[in-house]
Amino acid sequence: MDATAAGGARRCAAADEADPTPCEGRRTAVTVLDRNGVQHTGCIHHTARLLASLEGARLHPSAAALPWACEVYCRAAQLPPFAWQVGR
Ligand SMILES: [Zn+2]
Repeated sequence: MDATAAGGARRCAAADEADPTPCEGRRTAVTVLDRNGVQHTGCIHHTARLLASLEGARLHPSAAALPWACEVYCRAAQLPPFAWQVGR
């Protein structure tokens, strides 16, 4: 299935193509840096999933000022890597 077909709307840049789940809240809520320093900006839901999946990933330092940074960390801590592959 085409990921863009889910919900009929484009999802945030942090959403994996294979992840069928919809965005949650603002699509530019948080930025995650992968271990190469590449930035992935997305919603809380998908950045948490990305954070749990990418080895060496971390939140962008600017996230410290965000009230929901803790939420992203807590969600990521409870997720397996690539959660969408195991149906979560
Ligand atoms: Zn999203």
